[in-house]
Amino acid sequence: MKRVAARKPSAAAARERLASWIASRGLKATRQRDLIVDTFFTQTGHLSVDELLDKVTARDSSIGAATVYRTMKILTDAGLASARHFEGGQTRYEAALDRHHHDHLICTSCGRIFEFENERIEELQARVAEQHGFRVTHHKLELYGLCKACQERQQ
Ligand SMILES: [Zn+2]
Ligand SMILES: [Zn+2]
Repeated sequence: MKRVAARKPSAAAARERLASWIASRGLKATRQRDLIVDTFFTQTGHLSVDELLDKVTARDSSIGAATVYRTMKILTDAGLASARHFEGGQTRYEAALDRHHHDHLICTSCGRIFEFENERIEELQARVAEQHGFRVTHHKLELYGLCKACQERQQ
């Protein structure tokens, strides 16, 4: 099983893509939104709006949660971020630009999220779908349990 290295997508490339998406919809660029986008793309991992808001308000305390929500909605609609709805938590966002498909392992004790990519699992899923005459558009595989560190702590 190959662990996926969380590569930082370039904030500049994301901003450029977003700018053309925004312009094509007749929306205006705003300084606050730019700051949120910049902050988001210089982070890695799976961020909740609250976590992102913390980082954003450290740079500009006038930005509110509603603006962060709206910006993440735009980024998701533009295909630059993916919204993840893991069990028992808030919606989390991860960068989708230049990211390959991957699945997640979620620790129910410490909340850490690990990414993985497994070709055999992908193939098996495709075969199952085929056997059902089903055309898959996308899938999410989430494995819940205890990470290594939490298992060791509990011993
Ligand atoms: Zn853990
Ligand atoms: Zn992920």
